[in-house]
Amino acid sequence: MIIKDVIKSIDQIAEKDPSRVCYDYLGETSTYGELKARSDAWASYIASSNVPAGEPILIWGDQSFEMVASFLGCVKSGHAYVPIASYSNAERLTLIQEVSEASFVIAINDLPDVDLSKLTVLKPSAVTDGASVSEDSFVEGDENYYIIFTSGTTGKPKGVQISHDNLLSFINWELKDFKLPEHPAFLAQAPYSFDLSVMSLYPALVTGGKLVVLPHEVCENFGKLFQVLPTIDFNVWVSTPSFAQLCFLDKTFDSEHHPELTHFLFCGEELPHSEVDTLKSRFPGSHIFNTYGPTEATVAVTQVEITDEILAKYDRLPIGIAKEDTIITIDESSGEKPGEGEILLNGPSVSKGYLNNPEKTEAAFFKGKNGYQSYRTGDAGFLDRDMLFYRGRIDFQIKFNGYRIELEEINFYLSKNEFVRYGVVAPKYDKDHKVKQLIAQIELNDGVLDNHTEKEVTASIRKDLTENVMPYMMPQRFVFRDALPISQNGKVDIKAVISEVNS
Ligand code: AMP
Repeated sequence: MIIKDVIKSIDQIAEKDPSRVCYDYLGETSTYGELKARSDAWASYIASSNVPAGEPILIWGDQSFEMVASFLGCVKSGHAYVPIASYSNAERLTLIQEVSEASFVIAINDLPDVDLSKLTVLKPSAVTDGASVSEDSFVEGDENYYIIFTSGTTGKPKGVQISHDNLLSFINWELKDFKLPEHPAFLAQAPYSFDLSVMSLYPALVTGGKLVVLPHEVCENFGKLFQVLPTIDFNVWVSTPSFAQLCFLDKTFDSEHHPELTHFLFCGEELPHSEVDTLKSRFPGSHIFNTYGPTEATVAVTQVEITDEILAKYDRLPIGIAKEDTIITIDESSGEKPGEGEILLNGPSVSKGYLNNPEKTEAAFFKGKNGYQSYRTGDAGFLDRDMLFYRGRIDFQIKFNGYRIELEEINFYLSKNEFVRYGVVAPKYDKDHKVKQLIAQIELNDGVLDNHTEKEVTASIRKDLTENVMPYMMPQRFVFRDALPISQNGKVDIKAVISEVNS
């Protein structure tokens, strides 16, 4: 099956089979007919709200059906959407508004207490059903479909622009290369502000499949998670390896209790060998895929099924073979060994760049000779024929519990604290190359500890960070040092700090 238009494909299912269930939020179900009616209603409301042409719309919310209906409402009315998880701190909304210059926000959930003077708020209660929309206004081609904000190095998040055609290339690959069942029911666990969620969302909706939601509030609370997980049924698991590992604590997470679960799609961080061993013993005969890719290339661009042969052959698992339309090259100039270097991606799913950020766009993206965008991933790796292997980062971006973090973003806010001269966050790795802890290494201004206790200083730093970075970026430990290592250019030597922490 190949689709040509994301929005129209979803609407066609609604027209043919309106009573088919598309969304299951803890037992509360919604149909394709409802999705079409509600997204048309949103589109008509947005169209009547005079949002400037081409302007993206911020959406603040959780993982409810209304959230997805409003996504489709935006793209049906010709606007890209910017999903922001409603558990984010208030500052994130302000920063994203500043970077995106958006003047409208859809409040699926209550907005935080911030200055909203630059934003017009659109609420679900004002959306009236029964409206119709014209296909002429649908987002298409190279127009932005969604914009996902990731961590940025200077304290400002970067907005990755994904066009309709970027998304199309990704969806058609997922439909073709993963042996998915017909009308697949997908686990929808990742919040919509992460592009991993797209691996479930659109492949489910364009095939008449279903999204079975495991909301963030449930995943954050082990008690609730282990209560809910055994009660939900789906065919395709999509998550980071970290989240699946957590679920191993549930003794009923096996094929006996989840007989319909046949496919596992992993993305976002290293998939440990030991994790696949466990998974294979719990779900014999299931299809387990490792996939790799950055948000900048639309979710993922390589895949490999981890078979028994692959497990026997490799200790550190491969990350896969490129999708048909994508070219992978290795820039050996940045590698430490022959054949190894930075992974470069080129193809129709590579983004046009970061929204309103020509400097960062130019640093990471360039046009390939074939006319498609190329992206410098910052990942180190090598190719063995067409199979790609990952060997860590060449910069200070990390994954922690599946979350993408620029360490320099935390450093930026650490160093803004009144007591701090230099602050560097170092990831502490385990044997599977996974980050287990974030440790802040801090050099204080002269005399601070003469007048304050370490506890007071830590509390002050934590307070500043709580206001400025996402909760998952908060260091677990704060270590005060007389002096941090300084490199030749007079700046703190971040690499040296990281290697000290891991030595
Ligand atoms: P994100 O934009 O959040 O999807 O993060 C992209 C980054 O996650 C990549 O550049 C890699 O550093 C890392 N990553 C994604 N998938 C994998 C994988 N299968 N194995 C190792 N690292 C991965």
